[in-house]
Amino acid sequence: MTIGTLFIVSAPSGAGKTSLLKALVETEDRVKVSISHTTRPKRPGEVDGVDYHFLDTAAFEQMVEAGAFLEHAEVFGNFYGTSEAGIRDQLAAGNDVILEIDWQGAQQVRKRIPDTVSVFILPPTPEALRQRLGSRGQDSEAVISRRLAEAREEMSHFAEYDFIVVNDLFEQALGEVRSIITSRRLSQAIQAKRLQGRLRSLLA
Ligand code: GDP
Ligand code: ADP
Ligand code: 5GP
Repeated sequence: MTIGTLFIVSAPSGAGKTSLLKALVETEDRVKVSISHTTRPKRPGEVDGVDYHFLDTAAFEQMVEAGAFLEHAEVFGNFYGTSEAGIRDQLAAGNDVILEIDWQGAQQVRKRIPDTVSVFILPPTPEALRQRLGSRGQDSEAVISRRLAEAREEMSHFAEYDFIVVNDLFEQALGEVRSIITSRRLSQAIQAKRLQGRLRSLLA
């Protein structure tokens, strides 16, 4: 029986999804952020197996051939994918799992696993997005320009998501993401499974 929920979080690059999810898992038990595979070069400070599983295109294609990915997509000229194995184990263990993926991946996952909860993170303004991408200080000018140019395309998919969070004040946005997870955990569908024993004795 699966009690865990698969959450999908998307946002334009620089909106703050990685920072929000990092802060979230520090205080929240039983929620894991899935570690994607990617062919993009490692940024300074990123660690293989922690931030991403970094691999080359040939190895990525082999995994595609082997059917290892729940979803995969090309984003900003690199390949990204979510491997199926880790996620199934986490969900079966009762953990909630968050996929930090783009809109193309989100569409694939919803098709294969209809019972997901998806969240779109918006920056407060175009200027803030530009500023955050720059202040992160880890991408070249060319990479930043490309990501800004594609932000509008990513954001145009907001209506496909169940929840929208504006990441203006960080702590407020973090509280809102936490509320989404809490409300899902309290939903009848999940509680009916978690509280089976208790409900049995209450209804006896
Ligand atoms: P950042 O989001 O600006 O930190 O940059 P990244 O290079 O880490 O991610 C770039 C884009 O790829 C973002 O839109 C992510 O949501 C997306 N992405 C990351 N991992 C995956 C994945 O496993 N699958 C898919 N489809 N997209 C992913
Ligand atoms: P993403 O994963 O969506 O690309 P990051 O989490 O890497 O975004 O955030 C991009 C930059 O914006 C980082 O330097 C981060 O510290 C900063 N940032 C995130 N949220 C906020 C916020 N609410 N206010 C100001 N800066 C923020
Ligand atoms: P308890 O089982 O004591 O109520 O909760 C222990 C931990 O499980 C808490 O950190 C709580 O956030 C988390 N939790 C509570 N309900 C759920 C749920 O329905 N699903 C998941 N994955 N975790 C939950």
